[in-house]
Amino acid sequence: MNTMTDRDTHRVIPLMDVRPHGLAVPAAAFSSGTRLLTGGLLADTRGRSLRDLRISVTDRCNFRCNYCMPKEIFGTDYPYLKHADLLSFEEVTRLARVFVAHGVQKIRLTGGEPLLRKNLEQLIEQLSKLRTPDGQPLDLTLTTNGSLLARKARALKDAGLQRVTVSLDGLDDAVFRSMNDVDFPVADVLEGIAAARAAGLGPIKINMVVKRGTNEQEILPMARYFKGSGLVLRFIEYMDVGATNGWRMNEVMPSAEVIQLIQSELPLVPLEPSSPGETASRWGYADAQGRHDPAAGEIGVISSVTQAFCGECNRARLSTEGQLYLCLFASKGYDLRSLVRGQASDADLASAIGHIWQSRNDNYSEQRSHLPFDSGTPVKRVEMSYIGG
Ligand code: SAM
Ligand code: SF4
Ligand code: SF4
Repeated sequence: MNTMTDRDTHRVIPLMDVRPHGLAVPAAAFSSGTRLLTGGLLADTRGRSLRDLRISVTDRCNFRCNYCMPKEIFGTDYPYLKHADLLSFEEVTRLARVFVAHGVQKIRLTGGEPLLRKNLEQLIEQLSKLRTPDGQPLDLTLTTNGSLLARKARALKDAGLQRVTVSLDGLDDAVFRSMNDVDFPVADVLEGIAAARAAGLGPIKINMVVKRGTNEQEILPMARYFKGSGLVLRFIEYMDVGATNGWRMNEVMPSAEVIQLIQSELPLVPLEPSSPGETASRWGYADAQGRHDPAAGEIGVISSVTQAFCGECNRARLSTEGQLYLCLFASKGYDLRSLVRGQASDADLASAIGHIWQSRNDNYSEQRSHLPFDSGTPVKRVEMSYIGG
């Protein structure tokens, strides 16, 4: 839905609206001869279109997963964003509407822990009303650690959320409690998953980050537990996101090894990707004839470290305070909040977002694949809890 007027498309707003510490929105976005409207084919410098928007609704979390928000850094005195700095639900929805007019079909709410954001259902209700230019509803989903799901699943569904992805790094209670580092029991997450199922928030995906030396012994128990459940378990390679998790390559268990391990007990067959730009490679459980058995279901592996998938990356990320990041590994974002809180019209926002996307050339994972195998994190990056996974 596009509410832009003629007046909007000709107004010029000063570049000073862009915050100095964010990246500058390309000047062409605001000059009358080079303004970009929605409705055209928007592609970045590598020919990738904009399809997927991840919105972080809070930088706070009630877990302290050591690969994401280690306690030593994210202690009680950590300077989280103040409420006034967060985009309001109306601001998020306004930006989302412009992204959707540019081709976004899928929105994922994330964080930090998105269910900690007060009244999140109100945002979901607003986003669920958006329609793509050809009148289709969005694929609206959310990634959560599951801790508050038992309480909130029904309200989320009623507000218009379609499905959820729940993070779960193991079934062994001691392993799980030590990975979330706040002694949170695995049983409560399983209860949350059951509540999401009962509320009809499906298909549900389960994300397990595999860290070598920490939870690789949980791979097979997790595969056995979720096989045939209708839930899709996905194994994620431990990534060098942010600058605080002390990432080393030798703690990454390559997806190829995960598949090999599962195959040793539960035969698998490769499946076709279900959509372009999909991050996970899909594998189906095989029947006695070696064909995919749909009743047994499938798993996925997300090989962000060992197999770069930048070539089809169609994802943009909107941080909690309204900065637009073009890559999970970017060190800076474009300050859309100052445009939204300034005098920018929807058409100004559309032109800014269009120009930013057109200038995108990020391919961090491809670049990293050329670095020495045992190197640490090579550049300063923003934390995943801030821009969302
Ligand atoms: N708190 C929510 C959760 O944990 O699902 C949403 C935000 S979290 C940043 C999103 C996803 O990123 C989770 O599935 C989490 O496991 C994953 N993640 C965080 N740090 C990671 C890392 N260093 N490597 C791989 N995945 C990571
Ligand atoms: Fe919190 Fe999710 Fe990060 Fe764990 S992965 S610390 S649950 S934001
Ligand atoms: Fe996309 Fe950046 Fe990840 Fe490549 S490294 S797949 S560009 S988010």
